[in-house]
Amino acid sequence: MIDSRTAAGPPPGSTPFRGGLAVLSGPSGSGKTSICNALLEDPRVELSISATTRPARGGEQHGREYWFYSRAEFDRMVAAGDFVEWAQVYANCYGTPRRPLEEASRRTDRLMVLDIDVQGAAQLRKQAIRHVSIFIAPPSIDELKRRLAARRTDSPEVIAERLRWAEQELAQAGTYDHVIVNVDLAATIAAAKAILGL
Ligand code: 5GP
Repeated sequence: MIDSRTAAGPPPGSTPFRGGLAVLSGPSGSGKTSICNALLEDPRVELSISATTRPARGGEQHGREYWFYSRAEFDRMVAAGDFVEWAQVYANCYGTPRRPLEEASRRTDRLMVLDIDVQGAAQLRKQAIRHVSIFIAPPSIDELKRRLAARRTDSPEVIAERLRWAEQELAQAGTYDHVIVNVDLAATIAAAKAILGL
């Protein structure tokens, strides 16, 4: 485990860039999205665009953040084997399109980042698809509660549900190749980059 308070993982430059696939998971409020966005600033890094049944949030575009589908369309894609993994997260379904991922897994000059939940990461681990997995953990459940409340976007009920999910997700952290405790965002980004050779 890497704690961004005390260590920044491998020193920058010590891990060569190998491209391929990187899985990033972590509870809502762990800072995972900010870390993902920071990694995507590198021109060698691209995002795996998931399919979802969740309605688009303001500013999100079909094909940029997600591919937005109806439940019926999503179910057809599941039946056709179009996803490498898929899971229900909160009330919606999310799946990773198979073809772009298989292509990216063969590339050594580009890195594809998958922002997926612990259920999806567990499914991927069972398959013979090489990848590096990183779990972003909050410093504590209390700190996570504080961060979720500070966003002011969710009702107390939604926050309570996210905290319940977070506890279950945190229990899976040990199944990842790396765990970074996100105390300081800049240090966490540096640690993630060092792991991925960026
Ligand atoms: P959001 O709706 O806030 O964008 O994402 C909710 C959760 O769904 C996040 O934890 C995110 O990592 C997860 N997620 C997004 N895409 C996928 C996917 O393709 N597969 C799985 N298993 N989880 C996903």
